[in-house]
This record gives sequence, C-alpha cells and structure tokens, in this order.
Amino acid sequence: MPNPTVSPFTRSRIDAAQGAPSASRGAETRVAARLAVAKVPLNLVFFGPPGAGKGTQADRFAERHAIPKISTGDMLRKAIHDGTRVGALVRDTLQRGALVGDDLIISIVAERLERPDTSNGFVLDGFPRTLPQAAALDAMLADRGGVRVIALVVHADEVIRRLGERGREDDDAFVIKERLAVYARETEPVLEYYRRRGVVSVLDGNRPLDEVTDAIEAAVKNKKT
Ligand code: ADP
Repeated sequence: MPNPTVSPFTRSRIDAAQGAPSASRGAETRVAARLAVAKVPLNLVFFGPPGAGKGTQADRFAERHAIPKISTGDMLRKAIHDGTRVGALVRDTLQRGALVGDDLIISIVAERLERPDTSNGFVLDGFPRTLPQAAALDAMLADRGGVRVIALVVHADEVIRRLGERGREDDDAFVIKERLAVYARETEPVLEYYRRRGVVSVLDGNRPLDEVTDAIEAAVKNKKT
C-alpha cells in the first residue's frame, strides 16, 4: 500500500521511480497508485475587499477540509502583539491601512508554506495582495499544483457597515477608506491576473454566511474533476 502520509507529489515521484503502475503490481495497487497521483492538494486563495467575510469563510473551509488557514493579517497582528522584530517593523503600516513591503510579506508566507501541514493544501487569506506577491506565490507553488481562487464580491456600503461593526483597531472610517483604496489600486489587478488563467470562482458575498459557505464548497467541488 502507498504510504498515505506522503504528499501526492512525492507519491507520484516515488511511483515513477519504481516504474509504477506496472503489470506485475496487480490491479488493486495500480488503482491505488492512480488515485494517489490524482489527488491534487487544495491550494486556495480567498479574495475580496476588507469586510467581504473572507476570513470567516477561510476559517470554515480550512476546518472542514482539515487544512491550515494562513492569514497574513493575523500573522502580522500576532507579531505586533508578541512584540517581535517584524511586529515593530509593521505596526505603523497596519495602523495606516497601507500595505507592508512585498519582500517582507513574501518571506513570511514562503516560510509558512514550507511547513509540512500545508502538503494537502491550505487557504490563504490576505495574500497575495499585489502582483509581485502573486508572482512569488506562483514560484513557491511551481511543483505543488498551483492555486484556485475564490473571490467574494460585496457591495461597498455593505463592506463599510460590516467593518464598522467589527471594530478592529484599523477599522475606523479613515483607515477603512484607505484600505479600500489600496484594495482597488493594488489588489484588484491580482484578481485579473488569476482570471486570465481561468482559476477564479467569483461568488456573491452579500448573502448570509451559510449560503456563502455552501457556494464556496460547490465551486471547489465543481472544479475538482
Ligand atoms: P482585511 O481583510 O480587513 O483587509 P487583513 O487582516 O487581511 O485585513 O490585513 C490587515 C493589514 O495587514 C493590511 O491592511 C496590511 O497593512 C497588512 N497586510 C496583510 N496582508 C498583507 C499582504 N499580503 N501584503 C501587504 N500587507 C498586508
């Protein structure tokens, strides 16, 4: 039996090295090997403006599929809270609603994606947010199956209402405006980049949470075959 703990990619390489599937290994083994090779990791990017609900949906999806959620916003807030060197570097930037530098955030994500808990997939929330970040992610995932993108679309007035309710430190009216402007300027082109590649599912995020969750599941299942 194939070792179920090895990643699909590793499995397929082992099979290739062993010359599998071969007639001598029996039908059952051949089917198992094919299934192992066919198992594509669930590498997802959740996309949407601040307040689109992507953090909540990313949590739900990650839990249901037993893959990690990787939220760059959470990681940066934790660094600030813990008083690390990175935290000190980014504190002002977050308070202003600006983006932290590409090099820094790319190295943080690259390190996180190297951890073995990501081998069956992951949900990225808040990354990539710029074209250089998207290009860097492509390079990181070159031999890991690429990504699929779930884009949540939400009306601007609904976004502002939701953020007002949430009340995080960077959720005051002025900073919200800045974050929405940054989103339109820096992050929407990233969606276009993925759209051209045909890997985006655009979903209506104005609906109640559970409906959006169901729509995400359906979108991911449809693309799986
Ligand atoms: P939201 O989902 O409300 O936009 P996040 O929690 O994703 O907020 O991010 C909060 C802040 O963290 C951003 O406004 C930005 O300053 C910083 N940040 C998070 N991810 C990135 C990233 N990929 N690139 C640059 N800055 C980031």
